[in-house]
Amino acid sequence: MKIDTVVVGSGFSGSVIANLLALRENRRVLVVEKSNHVGGNCYDYRDKNSIIIHKYGPHLFHTDYKDVVDFLEQFGEFEPYQHRVLGFIDGKYVPLPFNLNSIYELFSPALATKFEEKLLKNFEYGAKIPVLELLESDDEDLRFLAEFVYEKVFLNYTVKQWGVKPDEIDKSVTARVPIVVSRDDRYFHDRYQFVPKEGYTQIIQNMLNHPNIKLMLQTNYHDVCELKDDNFYLFGKKFDGKVIYTGGLDELFKYEFGELPYRSLNLVFQEKDVQYYQKASVVNYPNSYDFTRITEFKHIHPAHCNKSIILKEYPQEHKTDENIPYYPILVDENLKKYEKYREKVKSLKNLVVFGRLAEYRYFDMDDVIKRAFEIYESELM
Ligand SMILES: Cc1cc2nc3c(=O)[nH]c(=O)nc-3n(C[C@H](O)[C@H](O)[C@H](O)COP(=O)(O)OP(=O)(O)OC[C@H]3O[C@@H](n4cnc5c(N)ncnc54)[C@H](O)[C@@H]3O)c2cc1C
Repeated sequence: MKIDTVVVGSGFSGSVIANLLALRENRRVLVVEKSNHVGGNCYDYRDKNSIIIHKYGPHLFHTDYKDVVDFLEQFGEFEPYQHRVLGFIDGKYVPLPFNLNSIYELFSPALATKFEEKLLKNFEYGAKIPVLELLESDDEDLRFLAEFVYEKVFLNYTVKQWGVKPDEIDKSVTARVPIVVSRDDRYFHDRYQFVPKEGYTQIIQNMLNHPNIKLMLQTNYHDVCELKDDNFYLFGKKFDGKVIYTGGLDELFKYEFGELPYRSLNLVFQEKDVQYYQKASVVNYPNSYDFTRITEFKHIHPAHCNKSIILKEYPQEHKTDENIPYYPILVDENLKKYEKYREKVKSLKNLVVFGRLAEYRYFDMDDVIKRAFEIYESELM
């Protein structure tokens, strides 16, 4: 097959764009993926108990984009799923984001009623109020509530997640955690919320399953492509087609300006001899233990067995080639470094870059699928 487009990476970004080009434009696409599986961070598999496990942490699909939903439904079956998260706070498991139900769990009925009345007097039912806004309220009780949520829900979680000291956190910049004036315990409020019945890997395999797509696993971009004097070479021959790159720009340009820093996670899976281990898919532990949260996969994908698999997430430093880059550390110095890489991209007319790594941003799954649509329409049709 004569290749006319190279796609680097088989996460949602790479797989959606490869599918659109193969199916709609009849392009001959080579997808190279350095890992031994497709799907990137969304990769999942059935374990020996037949429980679907998300290898890189829990992935819940939620979106308001109807076109993204219509596109995905071509590749498999989806089941409705409404995500619920509990937080272990002062010895109790309370709904997160923090809402009126959480208030009633943690405070005496008289105090909870007072908070509820004051919130409803000042804000509409359903409003999501950043804790920072409440911290600046004229009302002493609302300030007390905001301080409580900041300390007990946000502060220590952030300290663990980013490996910083509490006094290094600037409240005025970071205190975006909301208090929700509602009794709706769902974590997301998007119009469409679901999970793929057989997991994300199957959806992505189906996207890539096209005669015009050739997939090479365990193959790094640098194994097959080379950039010399602003020209691409594929398998040693000059290549004039598009190279669509969804990996990190620092890796693409051989770390010329240094590494783009990330935070990583040590993911510890445990098998438990119980039907269910906890009451929700995810329980956050802001103030106890070294891990930030526990996920129980059976709540996400129901399974009939007497075992359950849980996942504890321990945030850690990212080290290139040792662990996975999860969350970009978006401080000025790193963004400036990223801009230098972006400048290099501009000078290469055949290169298109996008996705969570290439854009050095946190994107949800629906965002990268939408990005793939935009890139397809603006640069590749
Ligand atoms: C812990 C965690 C939980 C999340 N939960 C949710 C959630 O609940 N809901 C949601 O919508 N989103 C969630 N996300 C976000 C979701 O993971 C991303 O939106 C999605 O993975 C982005 O897809 P991508 O293709 O851009 O990147 P990736 O999935 O990272 O795919 C990039 C691929 O490129 C490959 N690659 C990189 N460099 C090279 C190279 N040089 N050569 C060859 N291959 C290369 C990688 O191996 C990888 O397979 C979560 C993210 C994290 C970190």
